Amino acid sequence: MATLFDPGGSRGFVRVAVERGVDRYPEGLTYSVPSHLGPLAVGDRVRVPLGRTDTPTPGYVIEMCDAAGLDPARIKPVSERDAVGALPGQLLELARWISNYYCTPIGMTLSTITPAAVKRQVGLVTRTMIDVPAPEGEPVCVAPKQRQVLEVLRSLPPAERPIELRTLAGLAGLRTTGPIRRLLDKGLLTGTRRSVVEASWIEQALDRTIPATLTPGQQQIIGDVARELAAGFSAHLLFGVTGSGKTEVYIRLIEQVVAAGGVAIVLVPEIALTPQTGGRLIGRFPRHRVAVQHSGLTAAQRHQQWAMVADGTADIVLGARSAIFAPVPDGRLGLIVVDEEHDGSYKQDQAPRYHGRDVAVRRAQLAGCPVVLGSATPSIESWFNATVRRSYRLHRLPERVPGLRVPRVIVVDFAAERRRRTDRRVHLIGPTLETATADTLRAGGQVLMLLNRRGYANYIACPDHRCGWLMCCDDCDATMVYHLDRRLPTGGYLQCHHCEAQQRLPRSCPACGRNVTTFGLGTQRVEEELHRKFPELVAGDSMVRVDSDSMHGARDFHSVLGRFATGEIRLLLGTQMIAKGLDFPRIQLVGVINADTAIHLPDFRATERTFQLVSQVAGRCGRGGTPGRVIVQTFQPDAPVIRLAADHDYEGFATGELAERRRCELPPYTRMARIVVRDPDYGRCREAARRLADSLRGLAGGTPSIRVRGPAPCPIARIAGRHRHQVELFANTAAGLQTLLSAARRDGLIRPGAAMAVDVDPIALL
Ligand SMILES: [Zn+2]
Ligand SMILES: [Zn+2]
Repeated sequence: MATLFDPGGSRGFVRVAVERGVDRYPEGLTYSVPSHLGPLAVGDRVRVPLGRTDTPTPGYVIEMCDAAGLDPARIKPVSERDAVGALPGQLLELARWISNYYCTPIGMTLSTITPAAVKRQVGLVTRTMIDVPAPEGEPVCVAPKQRQVLEVLRSLPPAERPIELRTLAGLAGLRTTGPIRRLLDKGLLTGTRRSVVEASWIEQALDRTIPATLTPGQQQIIGDVARELAAGFSAHLLFGVTGSGKTEVYIRLIEQVVAAGGVAIVLVPEIALTPQTGGRLIGRFPRHRVAVQHSGLTAAQRHQQWAMVADGTADIVLGARSAIFAPVPDGRLGLIVVDEEHDGSYKQDQAPRYHGRDVAVRRAQLAGCPVVLGSATPSIESWFNATVRRSYRLHRLPERVPGLRVPRVIVVDFAAERRRRTDRRVHLIGPTLETATADTLRAGGQVLMLLNRRGYANYIACPDHRCGWLMCCDDCDATMVYHLDRRLPTGGYLQCHHCEAQQRLPRSCPACGRNVTTFGLGTQRVEEELHRKFPELVAGDSMVRVDSDSMHGARDFHSVLGRFATGEIRLLLGTQMIAKGLDFPRIQLVGVINADTAIHLPDFRATERTFQLVSQVAGRCGRGGTPGRVIVQTFQPDAPVIRLAADHDYEGFATGELAERRRCELPPYTRMARIVVRDPDYGRCREAARRLADSLRGLAGGTPSIRVRGPAPCPIARIAGRHRHQVELFANTAAGLQTLLSAARRDGLIRPGAAMAVDVDPIALL
């Protein structure tokens, strides 16, 4: 790395991107490098004085530079070098791409890439590592305990030496480290101080089952992708129905990569929610180091796992979205796998608003290795890339592995079902689903029931239509949701699902004084109804509700899955958390309470999401040999998306959806960015959005390939007291969109921060 030596006590100059939301061109601030710091390199994390008050601020060296044109007296020196080692060059390059593509300052992007636990160096301790000196001295007469130590140490395989002082004492059966210290004093052992990250053991249920044979389809794909492993970048879409054995394809490819000394990164939507995939992957590589990165780890564990990747000891990295930033040493990355690539959790919902799948493709390009995207219901973007643009190679696994059968999906008309009820109660479970549940429970099977809405009821209203009062959040344009909580004297509380604000349930309508009613559906209400209909199902015992209210972290969820595996839990009820990747042979019935919860949202991806949710949850059924049944309740039994999901016809769905997107000039036929302007004052918000839209139109200069839409209030026009107006940009090509966005950034029109959110390739439009 180029470093200048200046006899005046400085070693040249560097440009540092500080971890703040500073967005400026050219990027970074110039600092001098004092001699005592030694040479700095690109990627080093440092601390620099910032602003008039010289506030110590962390940042990264992004460039070596000279001070041409600057007054040397005004250049401040770098204060110190951070303990976090330099980022690999490829990761720095990836950060630059993210910063440009997703319109986020480079310093903020780099800050996202390094986990907080690493920056804070949680769990870092200094330990004494013991070894025998080489060459070993002549055997000398030592005390029995000291001889024990020497024998234990000599019996260790070379890979396990040097060994930590206290671990060695334990192995030698000693209660103190005295004998080892005396050997050190005599020079019969060597001791070196080393910094290590210590953390408690990460628990993981392992699954070591190796399938007896691969299907011809699996063999074909493994062969096809394996041929590309040494051939630089290539992108593959593995479209395999649920239960077709995609994970086994990943495992076989990873085996080849690690055998050749490479590293594989495997992304899963949220590993805490997909423990079975993790267990299989780790279980199948007992002789390799698998580093995991997910939200269920302690800070020290995260740091430790990250350090394992950085120092090159890990061969496989497994984790959620952010694992794509694993600091794999340059030149070692051999494969990236993105499982369930369609999953919405790959998109980060704060700056930088990156998509883990798209970043994975970019990282594979930089590393020159293949990337495999897998799904039973690929995102429309990936399907487009595979079948229209043909930039991804498409591999199909159209059949379930032998022994697994496709479940039968029955669509029932929810309105007709309700008419069959004679009492005046509200039933969320119609007669068809009720009978099927009774049959399944009687036959000893297990049931999965999906409702993608938590809480008890999402409307609290005045029963008098002429009054029309509806309880809304004070700070958001959204209704409050009623949650039961038996621990409270009132029996429940109201919560806004956008700003988390809580309130008490009013007894009477504030407008006319009538007693309020609650209606609408939520998982708690289904739970109550299930217990009423099936008294043998006891909440928290034989029936468990899984949603973000009832599960407080990965541990809760894992324990529920364990109890479901043993059969203690007969029915699992939950939100989309239960639609992902669960693999239990005794699930004989899957019920979808209401397939329409997403269909009417003002978002062009609503149908895609409905298709994915229904298909994915249906795929949880029939994994034990008998096909099983899926019952989908809907108010729109004839809607094409419901029909196609029931027929397991992804390709039919994707073809129709692509035609529709093309007709409406929507992604993936165009590229989109959404800019949301936020302000507590309505007038200021609207005005700022109008100025932004006008300036962007001016910049686009009437180019027909670029459209600026808006300003308009967002579908949820106010959240947490801030009004929201949006401007949407559409361009015929990604490059066209990028050119416009960079120009807007350079002119200071777009300033990501509290007052403005920029989302490139947005997936949520509310
Ligand atoms: Zn709110
Ligand atoms: Zn009223």
